[in-house]
Amino acid sequence: MPYKFSFDLSRIPKTFFRELASITSEKSLHRKLGGRARYLAEKFRIQEITGLEVSDALMLVEDLVDIYVRNLSETQKFHKTKKRALLLPHCARKYMDHHCQANFNPEIPSYSCGHCSEDCLVRRATKLANENGIDVFVLAGSSCVPQILKKNGYEGIIGVACSHELKIGGDFMQYLGLTGQAIPLTKNGCANTRFSLETLKKIMTNS
Ligand code: SF4
Ligand code: SF4
Repeated sequence: MPYKFSFDLSRIPKTFFRELASITSEKSLHRKLGGRARYLAEKFRIQEITGLEVSDALMLVEDLVDIYVRNLSETQKFHKTKKRALLLPHCARKYMDHHCQANFNPEIPSYSCGHCSEDCLVRRATKLANENGIDVFVLAGSSCVPQILKKNGYEGIIGVACSHELKIGGDFMQYLGLTGQAIPLTKNGCANTRFSLETLKKIMTNS
């Protein structure tokens, strides 16, 4: 199930994500994951800043830790991939209605950005991907991921979504023996969602 709560991490200091990355690179993390997530949630006052319930804030941070750990275990393999795809969530478009000029391909099904707005996150991510030779699919859900992954001979997948969708996509990717990197949303809610372009750029350029 997607989260039953909405969150927005845009006011959380960037050091949170740096510490998250640093903590998840610890070799024996799996033995103390719960404790680390709680430590991070408390240190960065996630509950206070986001207004979430304590248990929701903890769940959110635990899921982020999970995603970072999984990314780390796939990094080396991912760096060797050449043919890549970027899967973006449709909820990060600037417009969710007729103002969005994206083309919809019912065969996949997915959107491709029509570049109507300079400041649209999906447009900016699509541009970055195009510059790096990466195919882009803007998806309305994870159900079409199998079709995309099976058909096109991709070696590496970059997935942007909320934790729930990332988990489904990640499991399927693993099932097919593919590798990838996941970028969790920093603001959920199924409309006007946000993610880090900076992280996306780093992943695309193997830096
Ligand atoms: S820039 Fe692209 S994805 Fe964003 S609203 Fe316009 S057409 Fe849709
Ligand atoms: S937040 Fe976006 S990626 Fe997550 S379930 Fe909603 S629409 Fe899908």
